[in-house]
Amino acid sequence: MKAKKLQHVRNVLIGNMQMLHASAVKTARSMGRDNENYPDFHDRASREACRGFELLLRERENRMLVELREAVERIDQGIFGICKICGSAISEKRLRANPMTTRCIACREKEERHFMAESR
Ligand SMILES: [Zn+2]
Repeated sequence: MKAKKLQHVRNVLIGNMQMLHASAVKTARSMGRDNENYPDFHDRASREACRGFELLLRERENRMLVELREAVERIDQGIFGICKICGSAISEKRLRANPMTTRCIACREKEERHFMAESR
């Protein structure tokens, strides 16, 4: 990938990171805010359910943030778009669809087949 394009991808990734970070902060804040009293058991139960959902959301946000950061690091290290498994270049089309990908299509398919064979 050309340097200019890489820079663009990097900007997009960073933008996504900032957006996710802002939303993660919001999730954390709304989680910290439930010191209110819930005398009724029913309310407590729904609060617990809500909290479970927020935890899940937070986990997803954190995982996304890690993936985004790793993609930016790969750009900085000059190894962005190189398959982690076989070392060949990942197609630009694939990278455009998912800049966080670390495997070329052949390795990805091999992995999927392997996974399917295992879960059978
Ligand atoms: Zn590969």
